[in-house]
Amino acid sequence: MPRVFFSSRHGGISNGAYTSLNLGDHVGDSLESVTANREVLRKALSLSHLVFMNQSHSSDVSVITEDAYSIHTPNADALMTNLRGFGLAVMVADCVPLLLASESWVAAVHVGRVGLLDGIVEKVLVEFESRSTTPSRAWIGPHICADCYEVSPEMYKTATTERPQLATSESTHCLNLAAEIREILNRANIAITDVHSCAAESTDYFSYRRDGVTGRFAGVISL
Ligand SMILES: [Zn+2]
Repeated sequence: MPRVFFSSRHGGISNGAYTSLNLGDHVGDSLESVTANREVLRKALSLSHLVFMNQSHSSDVSVITEDAYSIHTPNADALMTNLRGFGLAVMVADCVPLLLASESWVAAVHVGRVGLLDGIVEKVLVEFESRSTTPSRAWIGPHICADCYEVSPEMYKTATTERPQLATSESTHCLNLAAEIREILNRANIAITDVHSCAAESTDYFSYRRDGVTGRFAGVISL
């Protein structure tokens, strides 16, 4: 069984807007604090390694091998590995932290509007397939909910024309990211666990929409 965990904003050492378990090294917090917070998480989960990525709303997938890990933090928005004890972390503050597992591989995926429209979820499923393995379970972590994720009417039209499951109502023009993700996973017969927490509504999580300058929490999966 894979191990799955979603952090909150509690339990770290960062101060101010980043209080306290900020895991993002790109949001203005001190790197010493972020490194210490990541180590707190790694130890709490008893992982030999905890791998992060430099996320940029791309649809790039990085496969972690022991060789690759020692060299760099990958520029990607999805991580995959078949190494035991290697935790894969996806950082978020409103976007969807999506975790996937087959018998022998796990993946952590950063799913925002841009990545979703670019097909990052389907791309990760293809990566599993190319390794002759099929994910059977998925976890959708805390993210901005369909009541809170308002976008411009133009953006709403473009996104919902391309992906109808994103639609809520023309009057509020909010996007339902989780509905579209569930649609893709259901088509692939993947069992879904959705924690149903809204990052923008719960003060237990960082939310970029709510706070602007803020930290990042994470979804972590390992074999
Ligand atoms: Zn909400």
